[in-house]
Amino acid sequence: MFIGHFGAGLAGKKAGKDISLGTLIMAAQWLDLVWPVLVLLNIEIVKINPGDTKLTPLNFESYPFSHSLLYTFIWGLLFAAVYFLIKRNLRNSIILGLLVVSHWVLDLFVHRPDLPLYPGSALHGFGLWNYPLIEIPLEIIIFAAGIYLFVSISKPKDRIGVFAFWGLIIFLSVIYIMNLFGPPPPDTNSIAYAGIGMWLLVAWGYWADRHRVRKIMNS
Ligand SMILES: [Zn+2]
Repeated sequence: MFIGHFGAGLAGKKAGKDISLGTLIMAAQWLDLVWPVLVLLNIEIVKINPGDTKLTPLNFESYPFSHSLLYTFIWGLLFAAVYFLIKRNLRNSIILGLLVVSHWVLDLFVHRPDLPLYPGSALHGFGLWNYPLIEIPLEIIIFAAGIYLFVSISKPKDRIGVFAFWGLIIFLSVIYIMNLFGPPPPDTNSIAYAGIGMWLLVAWGYWADRHRVRKIMNS
């Protein structure tokens, strides 16, 4: 699941209208933003195994701290707590905590059984990555719905607000297509560095959002 998580983040704008797109992306992708750091520290393990599932060569051998349900709840609580301390907005904090948890739920549908409930537990996953004709349309629909909901709330206030936002959408789409059809990554470090690079997408989200404003609803 890649653009599906971004779809969830974009959709979050509907619920939390004054949350920046950068924060929404950070929450929806939090588990995948933590994961590459843990991989580089050799705390979590990923292997490259072409054909592991039809849609990804990545074999998520062990990732209890970034991707167990228990730790997902802990991360969600922490994310919400830090946001609350900074912004003092309980409603938005809860929305962001739920977005963190949404990542695990979406992953549960696509991963083969490799997701623990808690470190050391049995592993779960419905494996839609082995059913491209279901997984790909599903992910595109979630992404498209997220875009639709986002632009129903947010409009550009200048030209950067147009190009930064749609540039991000196009960039994500291109990465998704490259992941589907490109060659497997050469080694696990390059996966981790690409994962770390995802923090740039968070920054991109903040940049785009700063050039957009909330739409005034017709009453
Ligand atoms: Zn994930």
